[in-house]
Amino acid sequence: MRKDFHHVVAIDGPAASGKSSVARELGRRLGFAYVNSGAIYRAITWHVLQKAIDPGDTVRVGQAVESVKIAYRLENDDSRIFIDDADPTDRLHEDRVNEAVSRVSRVPRVRGIVVRQMRDYARRYDLVVEGRDIGSVVFPDTPYKFYIDASPDVRLQRRAAQGQRDEIAARDLADSSRLASPLIVAQDAHIIDTSHLTIDQVVGEIIEQLKLKGLAL
Ligand code: C5P
Repeated sequence: MRKDFHHVVAIDGPAASGKSSVARELGRRLGFAYVNSGAIYRAITWHVLQKAIDPGDTVRVGQAVESVKIAYRLENDDSRIFIDDADPTDRLHEDRVNEAVSRVSRVPRVRGIVVRQMRDYARRYDLVVEGRDIGSVVFPDTPYKFYIDASPDVRLQRRAAQGQRDEIAARDLADSSRLASPLIVAQDAHIIDTSHLTIDQVVGEIIEQLKLKGLAL
């Protein structure tokens, strides 16, 4: 791991795989700050939609984020994201954001901004970071990489139980097939299928693996 970075536990996986619940609880148990990178992509998407920019217009999306100010208040239970001083935290799972986020997040300039932000946090805090490209691109040198998955049926049920309309199959396809930092399983990631596991069981397995990898807990 780079010398200027603290410890980073990377949690990647597809939509509704259980990443957020697991990563948040893991952060709490380890005493590490929890960063939900998907929420930052969602906040940027919200900003783009507020400005009535077509999320498919790569050039205008890139221009819109050029000078945007993003602040992520790092907390375990109640993280909040501010974008140009607006706080869209409670609106990040609106249908329109679900629908547009994969198009906004494939824009290289958007990815550059979010990656810079996460690396900046890692210079200051021990982190649990969840997303799609955390182990493969953002922190490729961390020895602590996990890929959390679940069957498509289970993932659909989880979203439905949250009362959200979210085309997760379409998002997974877009996220896996894009050119910039697609969702992949990092070569050295430990894979966990959460279909039949509780959050506590998944967190327990990750903590066991972290100990095996030598993280002093
Ligand atoms: O994790 P969540 O489902 O909230 O992420 C929303 C979207 O943000 C994903 O579908 C993906 O398009 C994008 N994302 C990404 N890279 C990450 C995290 C999220 O492209 N590291």
